[in-house]
Amino acid sequence: MSIAKPLPFSAETIARIASEYPTPFYLYDERGMRETSRRLLKAFSWNPHFKEYFAVKATPNPHIINLLKEEGLGADCSSLPELLLSESVGITGEDIMFTSNNTLAHEYAAAKKLGAIINLDDITHIDYLREGVGLPDILCFRYNPGSAREGNVIIGKPEEAKYGFTEAQLFEGYRKLRDLGVKRFGLHTMVASNELNGDFFVETARMVFDLAVRISKEIGVRIEFVNLGGGIGIPYRPEQKPVDLDVVGKGVKALYDQIVVPAGLDPLKVFMENGRMITGPHGFLVTRAVHHKHIYRDYVGVDACMSNLMRPGMYGAYHHITVLGKESAPHDRIVDVVGSLCENNDKFAINRPLPVVERGDLLVIHDAGAHGHAMGFQYNGKLRSAELLVRPDGSVKKIRRAETVDDYFATLDFSEFSQK
Ligand SMILES: *Cc1c(COP(=O)(O)O)cnc(C)c1O
Repeated sequence: MSIAKPLPFSAETIARIASEYPTPFYLYDERGMRETSRRLLKAFSWNPHFKEYFAVKATPNPHIINLLKEEGLGADCSSLPELLLSESVGITGEDIMFTSNNTLAHEYAAAKKLGAIINLDDITHIDYLREGVGLPDILCFRYNPGSAREGNVIIGKPEEAKYGFTEAQLFEGYRKLRDLGVKRFGLHTMVASNELNGDFFVETARMVFDLAVRISKEIGVRIEFVNLGGGIGIPYRPEQKPVDLDVVGKGVKALYDQIVVPAGLDPLKVFMENGRMITGPHGFLVTRAVHHKHIYRDYVGVDACMSNLMRPGMYGAYHHITVLGKESAPHDRIVDVVGSLCENNDKFAINRPLPVVERGDLLVIHDAGAHGHAMGFQYNGKLRSAELLVRPDGSVKKIRRAETVDDYFATLDFSEFSQK
């Protein structure tokens, strides 16, 4: 088994950056994010209105959202701050999908004001939106197929998921919108997360194409777009293969020709809202080894912790680790790579074969570009790191500074305590 995973930057480049910026920090590869975006758009270019709405929650940084916008991506938002982030880089109107759940009226109001496509998560939200904010002229519903689909490990079984409408509610909902005078309609679903089997997305397309046809026929409304959701997986493990986007695009096109065209629904816009596959492989958490500990197991302690990247602790997720400069040294030590949180799940790797790690060595934690920094938190007084963008010309741009102790205390009022 190969244990190497390539990096887009040389060990020297990363070491140079680490001599200028204190570890830990995130490093993003702009070229990689742009190329991946282009590959996805190309795979669906047969659909003239295909749009990828980048799931802002994956990497909520305006510099990154802006470069994705330059590639033609829109934004998938689920909260007011995510809407504001998108607006800040000029993504507005129908270049935003607002796919939220358990949504508050003020967030619907902000989405409507921006002209975003609002995607309702529940049938009761038709009245909630109408009464609180007013109905927009385009609306979308999120479908939860329940036992009709299996889901996968990260997202769980659709039947147990809190999201979306049942099939019966979809029909009832479109009928209601039609009677209320809404004119434009979309249909959305999101049934997988980090799925590496491309067929899964083709099956999702079949499901929503079939539904769109049945809804149009039965209710007499024209479904203008279907959104297949996000969830395209990435190969976190070196032996895994990425999803072949061209195969998925071709598979979806074949079903479009087979289901959508004969039913008279062409042109039907196809949308997706991936986060992970766009930025995930192109972001790295760079951290430095500090301590060694040998008790019942052997530990390498680094200067990052779970507050910088919680996927391993939260989901037991695998993130590959490269010890810089020791890529071809024998990986004959079995260690846990740990942070400093007072939580035993603060581990980036468990029983991982690595070369001998010495104090000061740089460790690069791969595939941290999505749901990485974004999930960071401050428990235990740990602060979130800086984010650095490596431009295609090799220059480095700081796109978020590291938090300071003052940031941590910013919401507290110390005025009655004389010692501070
Ligand atoms: C999280 C999420 C996404 C993006 O998921 P990825 O796995 O990052 O592609 C898209 N749509 C919705 C509704 C989500 O909740």
